[in-house]
Amino acid sequence: MTWLVTLDVGRCTGSGVCAALASGHFAYREGRSVPPEGPVDPDDDVLAAAECCPMEAISVTDLATGRVLHP
Ligand code: SF4
Repeated sequence: MTWLVTLDVGRCTGSGVCAALASGHFAYREGRSVPPEGPVDPDDDVLAAAECCPMEAISVTDLATGRVLHP
């Protein structure tokens, strides 16, 4: 099982919450989040980052089932 993580850059305000909660997956550059480039293994930190994003800018989809895990 793998997840696809996408970022709506138009919504990201650069709070840095995602990079703080899941630093292994999200980078923080030039005031904006940089999500993982490809599919990632399921990880509670990634889901927590998506759930805690104040702008609801992060989407997480289970590639095996197509189920949207967040939002
Ligand atoms: S938590 Fe959301 S608003 Fe903040 S940097 Fe990450 S994607 Fe952007």
